[in-house]
Amino acid sequence: MKKGKVVIFSAPSGSGKSTLVHFLMKQDPSFGFSVSATSRPPRGEEKHGVDYYFFTPDEFRARIAADEFVEYEEVYPGRFYGTLKSQVEHQLEQQNILFDVDVKGGCSLKRYYGERALFIFVQAPSIDVLRERLIGRGDTSMEEIEKRVSKAEYEMTFAKFADRVIVNDNLDKAKLDLMAIVEKFLNE
Ligand code: ADP
Ligand code: 5GP
Repeated sequence: MKKGKVVIFSAPSGSGKSTLVHFLMKQDPSFGFSVSATSRPPRGEEKHGVDYYFFTPDEFRARIAADEFVEYEEVYPGRFYGTLKSQVEHQLEQQNILFDVDVKGGCSLKRYYGERALFIFVQAPSIDVLRERLIGRGDTSMEEIEKRVSKAEYEMTFAKFADRVIVNDNLDKAKLDLMAIVEKFLNE
């Protein structure tokens, strides 16, 4: 059976990864989404098994001990996120997969999947714009936003490890860039 390809989106929180992932899935139904596990509580309308598998910190740690993850990171203190082997292995036999992961997870997945993967870094125009976007999204507390923003400068230094960088200033332009990059990768 033909095996799928992998497109990995990484960036600081608020850069626009989710927006671009949802757009790409609408444009190209050949993609499935890798639903990650997390130890943070659901936000807004998020649903278990759709946006994430929501586990308690203890459940998450038990799954780490049982070697259930392709990769996982403690992205913020006490907040674990990871890619479950059980989730992606079967999925990749049948379709292309999109990942929305933090910058270290992006590097791990690129190493794991190699040439089969395209690692895209989404870059917001500035840290101030990142903060404004997170505030504008309206689903994250100011305390949580500041935690995310204070990590963003460090995370931006990971852009150099990506295959491609998409600057998400004007969203329509970012979408056009994304489609061109992904189409080329799928045809390689
Ligand atoms: P991430 O998944 O990287 O945390 P999101 O996709 O949730 O980021 O985007 C953060 C917020 O910024 C959302 O409210 C989204 O609608 C908005 N947004 C995304 N891209 C742009 C853009 N180019 N211009 C203005 N707002 C944007
Ligand atoms: P959020 O809480 O905003 O949904 O996600 C916070 C960060 O965790 C984002 O950068 C997101 O990409 C990242 N993330 C989500 N799932 C995973 C995963 O499975 N592995 C890793 N390493 N990071 C993830």
